[in-house]
Amino acid sequence: MKISKEKFGQSFDALAADYQMIAPVNDSGAVNFKAAKSFSDVKLDYLNSKLPPKSLLFPQHETLLSYKKEGKDVIVKNELNVGKTIFFGIRPCDAKSMLLLDKVFKNDMFTDPYYYERRNNTTIIGVACNKIAPNCFCSSLGLSPASSEGSDIFLVDLGDSYQIEAVTEKGKDLLAKIQGLEELSSADQAVVDTVKSAKTASEVDVAVITSKLDSMFNHSYWDSLGEKCLGCNACTFSCPTCHCFDISEEYRKNEGSRVRTWDSCMAPLFTLHGSGHNPRNNQNARWRQRLMHKFNYFVHNNGDMACVGCGRCIKSCPVNLDIRQAIDGVNKAELVVE
Ligand code: SF4
Ligand code: SF4
Repeated sequence: MKISKEKFGQSFDALAADYQMIAPVNDSGAVNFKAAKSFSDVKLDYLNSKLPPKSLLFPQHETLLSYKKEGKDVIVKNELNVGKTIFFGIRPCDAKSMLLLDKVFKNDMFTDPYYYERRNNTTIIGVACNKIAPNCFCSSLGLSPASSEGSDIFLVDLGDSYQIEAVTEKGKDLLAKIQGLEELSSADQAVVDTVKSAKTASEVDVAVITSKLDSMFNHSYWDSLGEKCLGCNACTFSCPTCHCFDISEEYRKNEGSRVRTWDSCMAPLFTLHGSGHNPRNNQNARWRQRLMHKFNYFVHNNGDMACVGCGRCIKSCPVNLDIRQAIDGVNKAELVVE
């Protein structure tokens, strides 16, 4: 099916009465995912948003609960008011990243109520990438610029209209509320086929990285990998799949709050023990952890790599460290047979 952009915009504006609409919008010269009051606010002609949409499900700083001592009682407040939300214009890499975050925050052992409440109330409308940024390498990670994995509804830009299809049951429910669907013509289908056959220009081979990393923890490859790294955390904070956090108590007089804040394995304090000992005492060890977690530990624990090839860490690194080259280095590293 397809829908004209004009009719889609009208549906978008009508849905805004019942849903909080999150979409890529102009954000001080960059494009980021924020609340959009109307379809006219939405900006889709960008290569990739500066920041991924993960902070909408897993905020950078979040009060989990607050408490107050009143006489002998402690009054605890835990206010999580989440309304129905649509994330519109999500790229395939970011849609997949939310499936990966689900594995962390919602699994057989526990469910994080803060993440889950938002996730459960969110419907994702993904859009295929017609333009591909030079740092993108999602095709290496089993995705493509037109992969619908992780989206509930998926769009392909046809010029004046979108091809529109429901991917999940949640997507079918939302699609039923969108007015003005038409049949796709054969010329439209040809455009869809072209977009769907596209691959990222940049690729990296991840075929053997997981098994190779199994025996590389003490390899000399790591000895200089992080030499240039500043430990600034830009790579992990801009990564749609990184999810480390700290929980701290902020207490003053008779009241306080429990706060969750993003943390990063690239930061020196991340593993600093109270004794002063730091088991990852340099950036080489921290780079090893970053690669190991994404391409080995996460695979063993969750059956998938924790990288979607969005290229944001490459673009944001102030000293031009490139995860594709780091992966390539693992591929080329010689294993020492003992
Ligand atoms: S590691 Fe880099 S390329 Fe991979 S998902 Fe994170 S930011 Fe994107
Ligand atoms: S963005 Fe670059 S310099 Fe900063 S922590 Fe990451 S790899 Fe190191």
